[in-house]
Amino acid sequence: MKIGVLALHGAFIEHIHLLESIGIEAVKIRLPEDLDGVSGLIIPGGESTTMRKLTARWGMREPILGLAAKGAPILGTCAGMIVVASEIADGDEPVFPMIDVTVRRNAFGRQLDSFETELSMPVVGDTPIHAIFIRAPIIERVGPGVETLASLPDGRVVAVRQRNVIAISFHPELAGETRIHRLIATMAADFSEPGEGTVVARTEPGIRRDASPGASRGRSE
Ligand code: GLN
Repeated sequence: MKIGVLALHGAFIEHIHLLESIGIEAVKIRLPEDLDGVSGLIIPGGESTTMRKLTARWGMREPILGLAAKGAPILGTCAGMIVVASEIADGDEPVFPMIDVTVRRNAFGRQLDSFETELSMPVVGDTPIHAIFIRAPIIERVGPGVETLASLPDGRVVAVRQRNVIAISFHPELAGETRIHRLIATMAADFSEPGEGTVVARTEPGIRRDASPGASRGRSE
C-alpha cells in the first residue's frame, strides 16, 4: 500500500518522512500518472494560491478529484485544507472542492501569525495533539454531513471530516504527531483491500459493491 503526497510545492518532504517513520511507503505526486496505484493522498501546507496555479498547470485537478470520488482517503493540512474546501471566504474559487466547508485563509491575522497549542481530537485518542498553526486557515461553516474533529477553546473549528476526506488547519508533520497519518493509513488500507463484511457492507446492505470497491464506498458512507 502506498500513500501519495502532493509534491509540487510546500511542506511535502515532512509528510513523506513522517509516513516512512511509521512504515508506510510514500510517493511524491507531481503528475497525474504518479497517482496510479496510490491508496490515499496527503495535500501539504504551503501557499494555496501557488498550489492552485501549479495543479492547474500540471493537469492535476481532475485526477485528484477522481481519486477522492473513488473513496481514497485524502488529508489536507493548512493550505491543503484550503484547496479541498468547497468554499473559500472572500471570493476565491475553490480548487479541488471535496469537503462541504467554508474556510477563511490567514484567519489569525498578523498579530498571531503562528502559534502552538494542545488540541483535543478524540478521533485519534485521549492524549491531546500538539498543534502548530502557521498562517493558518479556520473553518467558518461546517456543512451537513461534515463532522467536526477538533475546535479551539473559543469554538473555532480547525479539523473536519466528510466521508474519506479529512481537513486540518495545523501541521502534525512538524510536531512529530503520527496519529492522524496512522488514521489515514488505516483508511487507505481499508480502501485498497476492503474485506468481506466491512462496516459498510454490514450496515448498508443495499449498496452495490462492484469491481471498484472504493467507488461505491465513497458515495455511500
Ligand atoms: N496562509 C497559507 C495560505 O493561505 C497557508 C499557510 C500554511 O499552509 N502553513 O495558503
